[in-house]
Amino acid sequence: MKTNGQTLKQKSPHDTEREFGGTLGAVCIPIFLPLTVLFLISASRSSDAGVFQWPPPLPTTDQLWDPLALVILLGWIALHALLYLMPLGKVSEGLVLKDGTRLKYPINGFHGLCISGVLLLLFLGLGAPLGYLFELLVPLAVCAIAVSFVFSVYLYMRSFWAPSHALALGGNTGNPLYDFFIGRELNPRIGDFDLKYFCELRPGLIGWVVVNLGMLMKEVELRGSPSLAMILVNSFQLLYVADALWNEEAVLTTMDIVHDGFGFMLVFGDLAWVPFTYSLQAAFLVVHPQTLSTLGAAVIIALNGIGYYIFRKSNSQKNQFRRDPTHPSVARLETIATATGKRLLVSGWWGLVRHPNYLGDLLMALAWSLPCGFSHLLPYFYVIYFTVLLIHREDRDERHCRAKYGLAWDTYCRRVPYRIFPYLY
Ligand code: NDP
Repeated sequence: MKTNGQTLKQKSPHDTEREFGGTLGAVCIPIFLPLTVLFLISASRSSDAGVFQWPPPLPTTDQLWDPLALVILLGWIALHALLYLMPLGKVSEGLVLKDGTRLKYPINGFHGLCISGVLLLLFLGLGAPLGYLFELLVPLAVCAIAVSFVFSVYLYMRSFWAPSHALALGGNTGNPLYDFFIGRELNPRIGDFDLKYFCELRPGLIGWVVVNLGMLMKEVELRGSPSLAMILVNSFQLLYVADALWNEEAVLTTMDIVHDGFGFMLVFGDLAWVPFTYSLQAAFLVVHPQTLSTLGAAVIIALNGIGYYIFRKSNSQKNQFRRDPTHPSVARLETIATATGKRLLVSGWWGLVRHPNYLGDLLMALAWSLPCGFSHLLPYFYVIYFTVLLIHREDRDERHCRAKYGLAWDTYCRRVPYRIFPYLY
């Protein structure tokens, strides 16, 4: 029996590597992060907006639930599911999967953004009180959190019907709490409808700019016109979301799609965390108006522009190189060979630091907080959290790349010693 047990153990298909603090992280994060969302929304609307208040400002039970919030949230997800299914835009193939096949994905997220934008303008034209989103923010976040939990349970359960080659590497440890959190199945689909790809850039990301617009309309209700700070925050973040959707095809080669299973971590991140914490600056500005000088605004716009330029150019350079290394825009860049047959860029943006795209993203994150002034720490939550997220993500990516490319990766690290910030980190 013992021998059999050992043999079975050796042959076990379960993965052993654990991330995000393993089981402890998988238990604590799904409790801690939803509470953080509710805390941040409540703090942003309290008069002192303190992040170190004790007891922390959390919504009272009668502020948590509003059936209208559930109707709006489910209606919004259903609208985007319909837009996803519309035969608009092209269809692209993802990377080759373990079984040698490639999945097809509709590239129509930008159409979804434009159509939902037109619908919103129509609603506004008909007098719909979009500013009411400010009052609904807590119940909307509660519903998004609840939907994330229910959806993640569904994803976990259905993953047991998936063939073993369809499971994500690292998502099949056999520990139910960890696997539920990290995601077992790599590309769960209902027919051709890809659940992870749908959630990644659509309801939550577009929802984020709608929440921002709701905050702007609330400001108009309260003060007659939107402030310069609110306009900057709305415009910068709309540019970021529009850019992500315009370049939607690039998501097909990201870690989230290629490597990570679809579990609570991604579901909650996509549906609850992004729309309700990334919109914190706009929510803060409703209660804490800021005056911004023209010079201050110009400096912030320049910072956002520089960040965007680095972010877009570096992402496009790598995507172009991965799609067609002989393309004239990348053909002359210096590269090193790896044992896998793929090459690594060591000049151009990817010769500056090992993650120039993260550098640009972080400069933009700072530009989104600066319009909120220096009186409070809360609007800087995003840039602080995002720095931690990207440092952790960079570390995960390095481990994957070292495993993939071995010695060639070490050579790249020697040639390009800094990870994100030149001469600093
Ligand atoms: P990246 O676009 O940084 O891709 C990393 C991959 O690029 C590596 O795994 C490797 O894959 C390839 N690569 C690394 N170095 C080189 C090189 N020198 N030459 C060629 N290829 C290289 O991945 P992310 O998904 O982390 O980021 C994509 C964008 O999304 C970033 O701009 C990031 O800032 C942003 N982002 C935003 C978030 C948000 O919440 N706002 C969250 C996460 C990311 P391979 O070799 O297999 O091609």
